[in-house]
Amino acid sequence: MPYCPFCRTSYPDGTTHCPDCQVLLTDRLPPPEPDPITVATFPNQPEAEMWAELLRCAGIPCLVTAAVPGASTGGYYSAFVPHHIRVRAADVERAQALLPPVDPG
Ligand SMILES: [Zn+2]
Repeated sequence: MPYCPFCRTSYPDGTTHCPDCQVLLTDRLPPPEPDPITVATFPNQPEAEMWAELLRCAGIPCLVTAAVPGASTGGYYSAFVPHHIRVRAADVERAQALLPPVDPG
C-alpha cells in the first residue's frame, strides 16, 4: 500500500501522489521524521493554503493545520480559524525565505 512520506497517510493501490502534500508516494513508510515545524501562521485556512501552494510550487512539501485544537481543517470554521504552515526541519530556511516576514506582534 502506498504511503505519503510526509503526512504518512496511506492511500489505495494505484495512487501515485499525496493530494495534500503533492509528493510522490512510497511503498514503505520511512522511519519517523521529527515533527514538522511551524514556519508561519495565517488568520484563516484559505490564506494559509495560498502560501502553502507557493511553497509546494517551490518544491517544499508542507502541511496546513488548524492552530486551534479540535478545529477541522477544511471544515466550515476553517475560514475563521488561524492556521499554521508546517514543513520538514530541513526545509524551514527555504520556506521562511519564501513566506512573508513573521509579524513580531
Ligand atoms: Zn501527504
